[in-house]
Amino acid sequence: MLTNDQLDKWDRENFFHPSTHLAQHARGETPTRIVTGGEGVYIEDRDGNKLLDAFAGLYCVNVGYGRSEIAEAIAEQAKELAYYHAYVGHGTEASITLAHMVLERAPANMSKVYFGLSGSDANETNIKLIWYYNNILGRPEKKKIISRWRGYHGSGVMTGSLTGLAAFHNKFDLPRAPILHTEAPYYFRRPKADMTEAQFTAHCAAELEALIEREGADTIAAFIGEPVLGTGGIVPPPEGYWAAIQAVLDKHDILLVADEVVTGFGRLGSMFGSDHYGMKPDLITIAKGLTSAYAPLSGSIVGDKMWKVLEQGTDENGPIGHGWTYSAHPIGAAAGVANLKLIDQLGLVGNAGSTGKYFNDAMKAALGDHVHVGDVRGEGLMCAVEFVKDREQRTFFDASDKVGAKLATALVERGVIARAMPQGDILGFAPPLCLTREEADTIISTTADAVKSVLG
Ligand code: PMP
Repeated sequence: MLTNDQLDKWDRENFFHPSTHLAQHARGETPTRIVTGGEGVYIEDRDGNKLLDAFAGLYCVNVGYGRSEIAEAIAEQAKELAYYHAYVGHGTEASITLAHMVLERAPANMSKVYFGLSGSDANETNIKLIWYYNNILGRPEKKKIISRWRGYHGSGVMTGSLTGLAAFHNKFDLPRAPILHTEAPYYFRRPKADMTEAQFTAHCAAELEALIEREGADTIAAFIGEPVLGTGGIVPPPEGYWAAIQAVLDKHDILLVADEVVTGFGRLGSMFGSDHYGMKPDLITIAKGLTSAYAPLSGSIVGDKMWKVLEQGTDENGPIGHGWTYSAHPIGAAAGVANLKLIDQLGLVGNAGSTGKYFNDAMKAALGDHVHVGDVRGEGLMCAVEFVKDREQRTFFDASDKVGAKLATALVERGVIARAMPQGDILGFAPPLCLTREEADTIISTTADAVKSVLG
């Protein structure tokens, strides 16, 4: 076995880590953590640390770590048939079964599932399908896609453009046309302090409508949004938001893409966030919770309305020119089937709702009155605590104070992983859906202790 020192050396010399300060890491100024195992909500590293992972990896290990049922399904599939492609009618029992299981769980009026590998490539598929759809309908001008500031939809060229966070645009020449952004449904950062939630919702819908009218509705193809904003700060929508947005989209014949990469398969206490908030999407993006990250797999669930047009398109033009080598990879599909069965068997959707409510209420009780806590918010097993310099004015700390990063570090030192979200001083929590109340209590008391040590 390689020593830790050897691995640390190779890590710094050879490994290009995503979302990492490259220069600091190469110079040895940031730690290397070599993760070796996991069980339930805990992970272990090579230095013998056991950490409660209150972010489920990147909010993806929904069934928790160490599930042998999924590992065995993967091993059996790999032994039987590790790979065959899914082009021109090929499939495996696992991929066909998984498509069926996803549609059994999906919101109404969904027709088919296209499988990819990551949330980013699934949204890339969605963009292409939206453009194809309007070309087949003879509306070549109707191509722009509206996303929200603070939305997160991926890291590619087009999906990074959909993402509405500066850190993912800077120095990459993003966002690209024809992507537009509108107001984030972020009540805590509402433009006027005395706005009610309902007034703020009306403001968001009016901003969207104004953008559509400025650009011309005949140029706008689709609107994409996460039911609850994730990477942009874990922000549940204000009261009535999705109904108000849906009305604007329907009026202007604009498709809705629900990006459920985080919220799909139970995280909010409902199987899908679309059902949780009464959204009526035409496309749904799925990934993370589809396999609980035991293998890479994503999907685009295509609604009836679009599907009919896609069929028409292939009758007119021949087979659809879109496919990945690894679409519907059998190992990912086998992991997905075992994962969805386990979610049902363990009642994890219900647990996300009930333990999620307990967790959010307890976090609010523990930290809601702290002088530097501006907001505690969440839904299901998603929760955020937003820190501010001044509670009344909702003012930010100086970015150079790195308050969010310091808090996340203080938490890890105390044995809990939370995530410092990328814009503002926000600690994000999205633990595995098997979280118990005891484990929730551990996260909350550790957070309170970490906050005390950093902010008093
Ligand atoms: N959409 C959402 C809502 C996400 O949170 C993410 C990833 N955090 C993505 C898309 C992109 O997924 P991936 O990182 O698998 O490309």
